[in-house]
Amino acid sequence: MRNIYLDHAASTPIHPEVAEEMLRVMQGQYGNASSIHAFGRAAKRTVNGARDILAASLHCRPDELVFTAGGTESDNLALFGVAAASKKKGRHIITTAVEHHAVLHACHRLEENGYKVTYLPVDTHGWVDPNQVKEAITDETILISVMYANNEVGTVEPIVEIGEIAREHGIVFHVDAVQAFGSLEISCVDLPVDLMSFSAHKVNGPQGIGALYVHRNIALEPLLYGGLQERKRRAGTENLAGITGFAKAAELTVSRLRDKQAEDEQIRHHFLAALERYVGKEHFVLNGHPTSRLAHIVNVSFPEVGTETMLMNLDMEGIAVASGSACTSGSLEPSHVLEAMKVPENVLRSAIRFSFGLGNTNEEMEYAAKKVGTILDRIRSGK
Ligand SMILES: *Cc1c(COP(=O)(O)O)cnc(C)c1O
Repeated sequence: MRNIYLDHAASTPIHPEVAEEMLRVMQGQYGNASSIHAFGRAAKRTVNGARDILAASLHCRPDELVFTAGGTESDNLALFGVAAASKKKGRHIITTAVEHHAVLHACHRLEENGYKVTYLPVDTHGWVDPNQVKEAITDETILISVMYANNEVGTVEPIVEIGEIAREHGIVFHVDAVQAFGSLEISCVDLPVDLMSFSAHKVNGPQGIGALYVHRNIALEPLLYGGLQERKRRAGTENLAGITGFAKAAELTVSRLRDKQAEDEQIRHHFLAALERYVGKEHFVLNGHPTSRLAHIVNVSFPEVGTETMLMNLDMEGIAVASGSACTSGSLEPSHVLEAMKVPENVLRSAIRFSFGLGNTNEEMEYAAKKVGTILDRIRSGK
């Protein structure tokens, strides 16, 4: 049986050069970066070197980066950190209905803590209207959090326009760029953004390491208390191997960006053409935005077959896909993103996310599309 991984939006394979760098650090370094002896100083140099590389990749200052344990922690640190630091100014937060659960569930928690949260609606393409952001602002608004690109349907949000609105009103703006990084060019200094979340394992780096960009003027309360690491913004001994791997992955990501964008567009085109051939245009619906989108995510519904059935049948053929976000798969809950997009019920209940990246080939996409066709035929004939 074949093994075809089409779930790169959930996690990606580690690039061999990343693994190599990590192994070198794991085998050679074990000092604590806070220790003053030679082993500690070597570890500190490793952390600082990686921070410089990541800062160069994201176009920010090294001291504006906080290493975290991943995208989830970065989102939580941004939301709880800004909320706590600004609570004297106000307690209103604006976000969207299509954010990752790391943002949405943190917002639910903040509501329990006495904050008021506005969850902006989206259009049928999953796109947030900047005018609605403007209209939602009150004297109490302290934070706006909107994702750069959606991880389920790939829609790219108008974060420049939203950021400019936030600037005009003097409101802190956080962007979850976890899914966008690796597909879009990202420059912290050029974007009207104050905080931005990143995660290594979405860009062919290791799981469990991420970063939060925090503009130097932004006040932030930490989530964790302990040592003085990360300029008191994130206590805990640094994840040396993870940080090294993240920096290497970011460097490779930025250097390959143009090629990857072209490859993704090409593979996407190939896949959609293959779906038309093997499934037929009239038997599937594309979810997401037609133009403002990431190339590597194809969210598509086959209304004749429920999500779980299709996902399990593809899995039996060795093809790994998702039902939306990693957190929603495994449960039968329909996607909150597609719900917010108000797609018809049969589209909502039959959505599959194909996401591709490093290592995938046209031939694999062809094979996957063909298998979808076979599965549909089999189900139609009741076998
Ligand atoms: C994957 C993802 C996260 C969570 O990142 P982890 O490193 O897995 O915790 C947050 N936001 C978006 C948009 C993501 O795609």
